[in-house]
Amino acid sequence: MMDENARAAAPLSAKDVYIEAMLASALRSAELAEEVGLGHDRILISAKVSQVPDLVDVYERLAARCDYPLHLGLTEAGMGMKGQVASAAALSILLAKGIGDTIRVSLTPKPNGDRTEEVLVAQQILQSLGLRSFAPQVTACPGCGRTTSTFFQHMAEDIQTYLREQMPVWRETRPGVETMHVAVMGCVVNGPGESKHANLGISLPGTFEEPKAPVYVDGRLFTTLKGDRIVQEFLVILEEYVARTYPVTPRATRPDVPVPTAAR
Ligand code: SF4
Repeated sequence: MMDENARAAAPLSAKDVYIEAMLASALRSAELAEEVGLGHDRILISAKVSQVPDLVDVYERLAARCDYPLHLGLTEAGMGMKGQVASAAALSILLAKGIGDTIRVSLTPKPNGDRTEEVLVAQQILQSLGLRSFAPQVTACPGCGRTTSTFFQHMAEDIQTYLREQMPVWRETRPGVETMHVAVMGCVVNGPGESKHANLGISLPGTFEEPKAPVYVDGRLFTTLKGDRIVQEFLVILEEYVARTYPVTPRATRPDVPVPTAAR
């Protein structure tokens, strides 16, 4: 049986050596930077790795050993869904523990693909964790045996697209709109419950249900839509809600928009 001294002298695992070497390098680099005059509060440490458990391990140890701000990112996360899920898993574990001050999502784009996907995924991680709000959120049910068609899926997508297209203008003029929550549900049996928890919610008729769609606004039944213009009529209700709830506020008078130094 191994005694205490022999156990203490046991070599570290290859993974521990690798992680400890990274930490030593990062912390020594910060120390040297301070020695040559860089302020402690001007330093941010990044120690990205490409495996989720390793990333969590590295940053938990870093957070315990220094008070520098930490930049999180799962490097070489990969393409498409794999990269998105791996990044969300890694960053969420750390952010939920209060570790991390800036983030980067590193996705391999499709050929000629768009790099804005990285930004959208990073924003969605922060918004899903309730740390920041960037755009109104659409809650849509997954659909089940009660769902009669894919209509509600198309409607959820149309509303999501509409909200995304409005945000460049709304972001500048309507503070608070990014916290709005819209629910699009696939049946009238279970849909209204979720609708009541949203700012605006609509429940489309499911299997064997009357062809009508109750709309809830701030938890109360507002109207019931019927016919083949449900999407358009719901968007009108949504536009009126936004105009009423998030009035246009000039940037210069908004407390959330810093005044440029030159204008002070
Ligand atoms: S809200 Fe209705 S249609 Fe949607 S998953 Fe729930 S039961 Fe199914």
